[in-house]
This record gives sequence, C-alpha cells and structure tokens, in this order.
Amino acid sequence: MRSTMFNKMLSCRLELNVYRISLRTFCTDQKQSFSVISFYKFKKILEPKELVETLRPCLKEIDVKGRIYINTVGINSQICLPSGKTDDMKKLFADYFSKNINYKVHYSNFQVFNRLRLSNKKLVDGMDDNFNPEKVGKHLTPSEWNKTLDDAEQDKPLVLDIRNYYEWQIGRFKDSQQQKLRTFNEFDDYADEIENSVEKDRKIMMYCTGGIRCELFSAKLKERGFKDVNQLDGGIIKYGLQPDTHNWEGNLFVFDDRLVVPVDGVTDSPKKEIITCCRHCGRQVETHYNCANTKCNNVFAACDVCAVKFIACCSEKCSTDQNNYIRRNSKQVNLKRSIGKGEHFRLMLDQLS
Ligand SMILES: [Zn+2]
Ligand SMILES: [Zn+2]
Repeated sequence: MRSTMFNKMLSCRLELNVYRISLRTFCTDQKQSFSVISFYKFKKILEPKELVETLRPCLKEIDVKGRIYINTVGINSQICLPSGKTDDMKKLFADYFSKNINYKVHYSNFQVFNRLRLSNKKLVDGMDDNFNPEKVGKHLTPSEWNKTLDDAEQDKPLVLDIRNYYEWQIGRFKDSQQQKLRTFNEFDDYADEIENSVEKDRKIMMYCTGGIRCELFSAKLKERGFKDVNQLDGGIIKYGLQPDTHNWEGNLFVFDDRLVVPVDGVTDSPKKEIITCCRHCGRQVETHYNCANTKCNNVFAACDVCAVKFIACCSEKCSTDQNNYIRRNSKQVNLKRSIGKGEHFRLMLDQLS
C-alpha cells in the first residue's frame, strides 16, 4: 500500500497536469484545427487488399490517422486529419468509393488518434463478405426518429442501444433498454434473446454511434421475422449534429482520445450533460478508465481522488490482486484490447508508474 504522503503527492501532480490540459484546451479552442470524421460506405470491392495498399501512401500524405477497414462489402472509417486537408481526403474517397458519402464531422484542437490503422478486415465484427446492405431495417432521419419517439403513446416502440454497456451508461436515448453487450460477437445471442421475448410486429427502433452496427443488427432481426425494424440513420453522431436533440440524455462515448464528448461533439457545448458517477464514491464525474489491471479490462468512471486511491483500477480486488495484477502502462494503453485511451487516463498511468 502506498503511503498517504505519496498519495497526496500524486494527487497534486495529477491536479497540476489536469489543470494544464484544461488550460491547453481553453487556449486553443478557437482554432479547432483538426476534423474528426466518421463514415461508412457499402460498395462492392473486388480487390480490398490491393486497395488498402493503394490508399496507404495517399492517406499518409494528407496526415490521416485513425481506423479504416476495407473489405469486399465497402469501407468503415473513424479518422482525424488537419481540417485544411479535408477536401483532399474527400476527393480520394470519391475516386475509390463514391462521391456520395455521408461524412459526419466533429472538430478538435488536437489529433485524436496516434496512428493510422488501415487494413483489409471486416467493417464491424460479424459483418462478413456475404452481408447484403439491401436487407436492412428502415433508415429514420433524426427528425423522423424524434417524431416517432414523441408520438408514441400506447404501443411504445422497443428502443435498442446497439453499443457496449459502458457507452450506454455515459449517454443514451431516453427509454432505451440497458445494454449488456460486452463484445459485438454476442450479437447473435442478443438477436436470439429478442426473438424469444418480443412480439414480431412490435415496432423496433435501434441506434448506435455511427449507424453501421445497426445495419448489421437490423438485418439480423429482419432475418428472424421482425416486421417493423427501424434504425437511426447516421447514428448518434448525425443526430447530435442537428439542433433538436431533446430525446438524448448524457454524453457520447467515442473510441478515440477524446473518449467522452457532448452529443453535438462540441467541446464545452451547453449540451454537455454528465450522468455517470464515480464507481468508488458515487460522485458525479465524466472521466473514464480502462482498469489498470490488464487482466480485468473493465471500463469505468472514476473521480481523480479515487483513481489515485485505487491506482486506476476498477476495484480494491483489481488493485491488490497479487497473482493477476499486470499493471497497464501508458504504452499498453494502445494495445488492441484497451479502450480507455483518454489523455487524462494516460497521464494518470504515467503518474502512477
Ligand atoms: Zn470517487
Ligand atoms: Zn478491474
């Protein structure tokens, strides 16, 4: 166990650094010099491996970082690049995919990814080469989505959140079912569960972060005989970019270094709404961590005081487990399984090691 003195020291150093981050955010907020862009496009690609290698140098040239997955079905992408190079990026994807891509854009004052991961792999887990984008649920625009939710009196639709449980905890549509999914490999089990418990003609409305997971999941429910399957077009990101977001509560979890943003993606937006609490003490807090015990990998919210006290672990057990404890360090933060990549979290790990 660490001495109280040492803990105090850590808290001070940490507070100082947190202060530095907020100062930096404050000072450069006007610039918003990076664009964080999310999109996917279904298009038959005959030689995905070759296309990956063709695109790689072009993307490096315009400083694109983030995740881009390409396979025979199309492309799925969450990227960040200097805002001035957005037109070059759009031209590139127009040449190789389509002029008609629905780009969803947030702005940031720093690069939110640390490298480019461009590969020939499934666009999302479970979406294989046989996926047919014609057989998915009905797309609702954000205003149709709001209207359907607002108008429902009796016969309430079933609102499904097609994300992980920790994403749901940070923010969600009112009336959505609590999500228990830990990985998207559990999609089939989840679809079975709905098949066995929900009437086939009940209206189903589903949403996810950028829309692509719903393409897959809505198809699975239609296959199982559900008749009225709807999905939020462009996901929560697109919904957040239009003015009327009254059916949303909380913030939005994003898989990049920002980690949690207001639903409209604007730093310090009046739409920012914290609904998560520190796992240890219950104080309202927005900072999230991947448990520092790599054997655990839980994602949780914690206040600075408790994060130091439990050495960035999700529980007393994780922080003191002699047999299983392999402490995550700031380099390991970027390992494949790691989710909590926030700058705040990395800083914490550096302070603790
Ligand atoms: Zn706490
Ligand atoms: Zn843990």
